[in-house]
Amino acid sequence: MSGFTHIESDGAPIKAWTRGVPIEDAALKQLRNVAALPFIHKHVAVMPDVHWGMGATVGSVIPTLGAIIPAAVGVDIGCGMMAVRTSIRAEHLPDNLFGIRSDIEAAVPHGRTDDGGRNDTGAWQVEPPAAAADKWEGLKAGYDDVVARHPKAAHPRGFGHLGTLGTGNHFVELCLDEAGDVWVMLHSGSRGVGNRFGTYFIERAKHEMKRWYINLPDQDLAYFAEGSEGFVDYVRAVSWAQKYARANREVMMEQVLGVLKRTFPDLVVTQEAVNCHHNYVSREKHFGKDVYLTRKGAVSAKDGELGIIPGSMGAKSFIVRGRGNPDSFCTCSHGAGRAMSRTEAKRRFTIADHVAATAGVECRKDAEVIDETPMAYKDIDAVMAAQSDLVDIVHTLRQVVCVKG
Ligand code: 5GP
Ligand code: MN
Ligand code: MN
Repeated sequence: MSGFTHIESDGAPIKAWTRGVPIEDAALKQLRNVAALPFIHKHVAVMPDVHWGMGATVGSVIPTLGAIIPAAVGVDIGCGMMAVRTSIRAEHLPDNLFGIRSDIEAAVPHGRTDDGGRNDTGAWQVEPPAAAADKWEGLKAGYDDVVARHPKAAHPRGFGHLGTLGTGNHFVELCLDEAGDVWVMLHSGSRGVGNRFGTYFIERAKHEMKRWYINLPDQDLAYFAEGSEGFVDYVRAVSWAQKYARANREVMMEQVLGVLKRTFPDLVVTQEAVNCHHNYVSREKHFGKDVYLTRKGAVSAKDGELGIIPGSMGAKSFIVRGRGNPDSFCTCSHGAGRAMSRTEAKRRFTIADHVAATAGVECRKDAEVIDETPMAYKDIDAVMAAQSDLVDIVHTLRQVVCVKG
């Protein structure tokens, strides 16, 4: 059953699409702290993949008037998902997918890419592809603008990270849909450069709070007030990082399609790409007002809009169509959501558990990936059931290859 319920709050109301899914006390506390802020417009919305997060709760939607909380956007600015359907059919794929997986790992730098001892994790170690150079051409001036005013926000790998995956939860997958068509789906954000911007501006916002003697229930809710210099600069930096994240996914997608074309020279994309952020802020109109809407681990689901809701390394993922539910600020979940911390997952599960949970998926099965095992995430079917008034399912995907950083 879907529809929202109210979470008790002394501040703005909190509407939660969490029927039938667990929600931790730590997340409830964070949500109440956010709802207590004086500049929340109408209410806070909570998605069924909700869990505790750095700065603000993952799976929350925060509409603000005249302020933005940089830690709510987070440090992986513009993190999100991209998916395309290809003309390849399930029956065209070789029985053993190890070769394709290795080729993707070679074509897209990731957390385990050999850096020749330079400790420059996940950057291009070879000449970046032409697509990356092209995109950087369009991004460079915006980057220079930000760092000219804020030299400490500079990152040495702006260009060198464009088209790279990163570590941990980020992934590239080949999936099959219900009709046997092969999809490429991938997950990453703005990499080192966005992380640097995020970290830098979170610190600046904390500094502003001290300067104005503003006391907050949680330091991480430090904000920039509209009209201040910090606000203008943050908006410029965060908008740029969001563009970079989108471009990052596009470059990776070209690389992966390039790998597949070596085996399938006739490959074409049969449906326009879906490319959606799930950690970002945008200017949107809700309940009659222009607000800054922060989606922290949440995806835009306007009426008719396509989005991506991934499950885990061994569970289904979904291409969804938004229903434009105004109470959710036209939003849906960004995944299944973690059910436990990484430490807890590593403590609880063995390699044998992970091997069993990822049977039939060509993916990492080593001890270092146990914190990403499917059991560390919530049940995606329960998560989908809790948000049936937010999205309709268009395609159900099942991965056959999963590359993790
Ligand atoms: P986050 O961006 O919050 O780290 O993760 C987004 C969501 O992606 C998680 O909540 C989880 O449901 C999903 N997810 C994590 N790892 C994988 C994976 O390897 N494959 C797929 N399909 N989904 C994943
Ligand atoms: Mn991310
Ligand atoms: Mn993400």
